[in-house]
Amino acid sequence: MIAVLRQDATQEQIESLCDWFREKGLDVHISRGKYQTIIGLIGDTSRIDTDLLCGLSIVESATRVSEPYKSANRKFHPEDTVVQVSDTVSIGGGHFALIAGPCSVENEEQILTVARAVQRGGAKILRGGAFKPRTSPYDFQGLGEAGIRMLTEAGRATGMPVITEIMSASQLDLFADVDIIQVGARNMQNFDLLKELGRCGKPILIKRGLANTIKELLMSAEYVMSGGCQDVILCERGIRTFETYTRNTLDLSCVAVLRERTHLPVVVDPSHATGASRLVPPMARAAAAAGADGIMIEVHNDPAAALCDGAQALTPDQFAAVAADVQAVRRALKMERDEDR
Ligand code: PEP
Ligand code: MN
Repeated sequence: MIAVLRQDATQEQIESLCDWFREKGLDVHISRGKYQTIIGLIGDTSRIDTDLLCGLSIVESATRVSEPYKSANRKFHPEDTVVQVSDTVSIGGGHFALIAGPCSVENEEQILTVARAVQRGGAKILRGGAFKPRTSPYDFQGLGEAGIRMLTEAGRATGMPVITEIMSASQLDLFADVDIIQVGARNMQNFDLLKELGRCGKPILIKRGLANTIKELLMSAEYVMSGGCQDVILCERGIRTFETYTRNTLDLSCVAVLRERTHLPVVVDPSHATGASRLVPPMARAAAAAGADGIMIEVHNDPAAALCDGAQALTPDQFAAVAADVQAVRRALKMERDEDR
């Protein structure tokens, strides 16, 4: 339930209303805008009489929010959330970031070579998997702890923040130097993991599950946010449909829907969505036009020799061309901020 307060509501009146809500067992989320204060009520609001609330002198309106996600809901957090990834990189609220790097970290030289190349091409954040969720247990599983070390070293060498995937809460100690922790599509509904990540104090990027609805993605964000973390980034990476010409089906409408429903930044991953390097550039351009706050692209210095997902990896030159296209799209649509020009 959301209560919009009258402009003349005093601090004392607001506090006493909030105390009354708390006495009823509800958590209170206060959003102070320039002109209006909005109270979001979290918990079982069935005992609150909306008419009674509207009758109070300081309440302008009270509405039940039917959506079960509260913290992620734009209705009572109208401004875009800007996730501060590092001193120099932010995502959301007009701040756009290209995230690029290999599917998996393979060795020191590979990750450093790719890191330097994608940075030259326009990437702001370096990706690289160390714990890989593979369908077959016989496929390359990632370098684990050593992979994280190589990734963070490449990040330090280039000055780029890094993102990598966690598969289990037991790995959390290894992520101390990681800037954004990624929850992969297969773990989107690993609720124990999400709860743990909500308490870890780092930005979390959640990828949409292969067969999950947008609402379920938002509920996963809610799990992380209910633990205290407000820095959540959502990622559309394609969903499974009857289509076989692409690895998954990129649901770009998800970007527009999320923009309406939530204040959280939205990133698109055209690499896993299409599974084919030739399809990545057009889908990256489309994602930029749809309003994504970031695009995550897999890049390998030698795609044919990649240990994982080589078919969808761009070469550094191809990445630089896509980055330029994406910038052109954003400029044409007047989405660029002055600092990005
Ligand atoms: C990845 O980004 O490395 C990955 C495994 O993606 P997804 O979870 O979307 O399959
Ligand atoms: Mn991959």
